Amino acid sequence: MTKLPEEKGWNLDNSYARLPESFFSLINPNPVEDPKLVVLNSKLAATLGLNAEELQSKEGINVLAGNDVPEDSIPIAQAYAGHQFGNFTMLGDGRALLIGEQMTPDGERVDIQLKGSGPTPFSRGGDGRAALGPMLREYIISEAMYALGIPTSRSLSVVTTGEPVYRETELPGAILTRTAASHLRFGTFQYSAGVGKVDDLSTLADYAIERHYPHVKNDENRYFSFLKEVMRSQASLVAKWQHIGFIHGVMNTDNMTISGETIDYGPCAFMDTYDPKTVFSSIDVQGRYAYGNQPYITGWNLARFSEALLPLLHKDEEEAVKLAQAVMADFSKRYKRIWLDGMRKKLGLLNEEKEDESLVEKLLSVMQKNKADYTNTFRALSFDQPVDELSCSAEFSEWYGQWQSRLNRQEGSNESSRKVMQQTNPAVIPRNHKVEEALEAAGEGDFSVLERLLDALSKPYTKKPEKEYTTPPEPSNRSYRTFCGT
Ligand code: AMP
Ligand code: MG
Repeated sequence: MTKLPEEKGWNLDNSYARLPESFFSLINPNPVEDPKLVVLNSKLAATLGLNAEELQSKEGINVLAGNDVPEDSIPIAQAYAGHQFGNFTMLGDGRALLIGEQMTPDGERVDIQLKGSGPTPFSRGGDGRAALGPMLREYIISEAMYALGIPTSRSLSVVTTGEPVYRETELPGAILTRTAASHLRFGTFQYSAGVGKVDDLSTLADYAIERHYPHVKNDENRYFSFLKEVMRSQASLVAKWQHIGFIHGVMNTDNMTISGETIDYGPCAFMDTYDPKTVFSSIDVQGRYAYGNQPYITGWNLARFSEALLPLLHKDEEEAVKLAQAVMADFSKRYKRIWLDGMRKKLGLLNEEKEDESLVEKLLSVMQKNKADYTNTFRALSFDQPVDELSCSAEFSEWYGQWQSRLNRQEGSNESSRKVMQQTNPAVIPRNHKVEEALEAAGEGDFSVLERLLDALSKPYTKKPEKEYTTPPEPSNRSYRTFCGT
């Protein structure tokens, strides 16, 4: 493997590789036969300080495919553990590697990770590879989330490898390059706690504090403050998912970040008709990760994270448990408050009234009964247009009257309410049938459908959305399933 000089804009540091060696495995990428660039995020490249033109050259593509690494790269696979559907397992990057942390022109430290880059010591019998469809899917949905204003990892590029991967059928292999504030997961702490070296656990926690919550580092009990910060970030994140109708699909503790960004887009999808029981993932038979369960699961995951932190919270275990419990008790209150604040915005409520929660709940219940489209209902209300599925509902008319009186009771003008709503309720989300359409065309070598979709998704709050991106799927197309075998 050749190491590339730095004129391409790479400016890598490797702070993670300076952690104790049990946290990672040094590994070289596994070269692929015939890498071809399929999609590149030039805007993201620019914010990273990378030269988008150079990335499209043969040398640039070789980096994105893992055939070469930039000069200062120390490629590693990260070790972690996780509760997968409730069961604890030792995991690690089985098909990803971190080539380093790009120090951006704005002074940010951003992980650069290749996903689908070949086997690692953590592959557990897997091939370490990824197929084109799922990597493009992660690209599309993560970039849509970014445009919607939700904390998320981002996607820099997808390259095809020129090699097949074998799932149920033979599929084209691909590598996604993604960026994230870090890939520190709840599971990284569970791994460390499981290995049992308390010194390493505190080194990891100090590292995470320095990277994500440096303002708590001088607190009297900085690990307690750290736990509170992570709880707050996650409460805010899951509330945002609920507001927008996003279903992560695989909220295992290894897929939850310390930074509070959304990562690991597998069987995720956006809800069309409102129903809290909505599940898309084919393997989530019991609906553990259904839309309506996401806040509870976040709480459960935080409890597992706090267990891993116990040895750092207090030297007396009982005291440590009490501290952790106090933070967990705060989570539900905090989540509820953030959720309700966001729902108020969705309805243009500019102040607080006691009855707001029941007003919101009543609307949701009418939507559920009438199978109303989640996104389009709020969007229609934002423009004072009729809601298709609710126009004949007496219950809805009654609710509408209550809502109007509530709006009239507040001080702000109707216009300012509407403005807030229009900026909060998106018109364009990555609807499952549109994502599938783009992936299907890409599988046949036509990337124009993908490009148009990405363009539409980059402007979710536009006043003039194209109808094809706002129309819900036909009823026959609604029993959408997503698959984990990616
Ligand atoms: P995920 O469900 O995508 O979060 O993955 C769970 C674990 O399985 C992670 O440790 C992944 O690295 C690993 N994994 C997923 N797919 C593969 C694969 N094709 N080869 C090796 N490891 C994999
Ligand atoms: Mg994962």
